[in-house]
Amino acid sequence: MKFADLHLHTQFSDGTFTPEELVLHAQKNGLSCIALTDHDTVEGCARAAAACAAVKMGFIPGAELTAEHADTEVHVLGYFLDTENQTLLSRIAQFQAVRQRRIHEMVAALNQLGVPLKVEAVFALANCKSPGRPHVARALVKEKLIGSLDEAFERFLKKGRPAWVPKTKMSALESVTLIHQAGGLAVMAHPGLNRTDEIIPDLVDAGLDGIECFHTKHSTVMSERYLEIAEEYGLLVTGGSDCHGFSKARPLIGSVRLPFDYVDRLREAHRSHKPQIAGPN
Ligand code: AMP
Ligand code: FE
Ligand code: FE
Ligand code: ZN
Repeated sequence: MKFADLHLHTQFSDGTFTPEELVLHAQKNGLSCIALTDHDTVEGCARAAAACAAVKMGFIPGAELTAEHADTEVHVLGYFLDTENQTLLSRIAQFQAVRQRRIHEMVAALNQLGVPLKVEAVFALANCKSPGRPHVARALVKEKLIGSLDEAFERFLKKGRPAWVPKTKMSALESVTLIHQAGGLAVMAHPGLNRTDEIIPDLVDAGLDGIECFHTKHSTVMSERYLEIAEEYGLLVTGGSDCHGFSKARPLIGSVRLPFDYVDRLREAHRSHKPQIAGPN
């Protein structure tokens, strides 16, 4: 049997692995194919593709776009993205700029609270275009300003806590279109985590191609429920660990092993019904 993991992060967003380390871990876990899905960036895809090619591992270039619909945050995975598509690159660059500005705002809020974190300490850890709250949390731990990552989120960074800064997101409907015009398939990430089932029909109307039924935080019952929803709406089925490396306890890679049938169906869908091209480029 061959298996895949289609939801993975690297240092190019909030994971701790380099693309090369990620591929080594994928090999160790006996995976035959991986997809890189960093938050709002495709920066790591070229290196991951090269590392996979060197060990004959299948690779799907992707990203996890932070979006919203009806006031709910929803993550939309793009698979088989053309990582040089200019429309995609320029649009995600705007959200990367928002993320970078937000780091300054979160550090300023911490300083207001009397926590003497320097913004340079965060950017030293987040050497990428798409930094986020986990980098702030790690910098707080590294500078010994807090005991643990969990504590950093609980006290300061979780939604509603004093150093939490909301971020501007693209609409989920736009994210689907953006992915399609870059040649990709659009898949709703971890629906069980966001509890956003009621928005699925709207996303399907917008052209959603698939749904992530298997995820580290989905129970068996949840996965079965999303398999039924996939069937009901004719959606492709994907799955992945959402591994962030060593940022959260042990690396999660290998904890979700997607049977290869699903990867074959995804590839087939990508090949045969090339998503419709919408918009410029
Ligand atoms: P951001 O994109 O900057 O809002 O940060 C979101 C990321 O923070 C998620 O993708 C997770 O990797 C991480 N995260 C969110 N909540 C927590 C938490 N309570 N503890 C640890 N990490 C978290
Ligand atoms: Fe993350
Ligand atoms: Fe996510
Ligand atoms: Zn993720």
